Amino acid sequence: MEFNLAYLYPELLNIYGDKGNILAIQQRCLWRGINLYLHKINPGDKINPELYDFYFIGGGQDQQQLMIADELQNQKNALTQAAQSNAVFLAICGGYQLLGEYYKPANKDKIPGLEIMDAYTTAGNKRYIGNVTVNTGFSNNDIKTLVGFENHSGLTYLREKTKPLGVVSTGNGNNAQDNTEGGVYKNVFGTYLHGSLLPKNPHFTDYLINLAGKRKYGNNFNLDPLNDEIEVFAHNRVINKKY
Ligand code: GLN
Repeated sequence: MEFNLAYLYPELLNIYGDKGNILAIQQRCLWRGINLYLHKINPGDKINPELYDFYFIGGGQDQQQLMIADELQNQKNALTQAAQSNAVFLAICGGYQLLGEYYKPANKDKIPGLEIMDAYTTAGNKRYIGNVTVNTGFSNNDIKTLVGFENHSGLTYLREKTKPLGVVSTGNGNNAQDNTEGGVYKNVFGTYLHGSLLPKNPHFTDYLINLAGKRKYGNNFNLDPLNDEIEVFAHNRVINKKY
């Protein structure tokens, strides 16, 4: 078995170790004898939505988001087609903001998003930095939380078609007001959690791999369990610790 992952604009969108998310997916696949091939997508590359099982978009500051905005609009149809066909997306922070309708930086025009998620983001006047713990319903096993690290001033508001990834118990999440964190639409997941997120959340990594596996290989696709003692230890150390 094999998967293909499109890593979108790594030169511009990749901060706070976001690439570690890809390494976690790749390694947890490899431990099960599944190859995951990484395809870097750079500005000017045309995305063929038939080719990829996963799409990864990392975080970036306002300047990088602005630099990639036109390119994203060029690929909007392909990425929308991929999302509609249930490909698995993971987008972090600045990348997450660009999945929505727009990101409005302070004192600048709106940066149009991909409109894959029914959500929008506006710059706030406070920066939210620290660990975040989120209660989720995504886990197939004992861990019911996601942990990660946020650093953003953008405030994201979800509209009807997008469900939150979870409810914040420590930290701020989407907007520091409604207790939501992240967004989910079909198999598209956006979150403010850097960290990297996936190495500390092995259950969520497997959840994403399972979605891609069932999409590609059918409902009989199942992942063998791994010994996650170290990963779970790392996860539990951060739960509800803001700093
Ligand atoms: N520019 C965005 C913000 O500060 C995203 C930052 C990030 O990706 N860490 O809200």
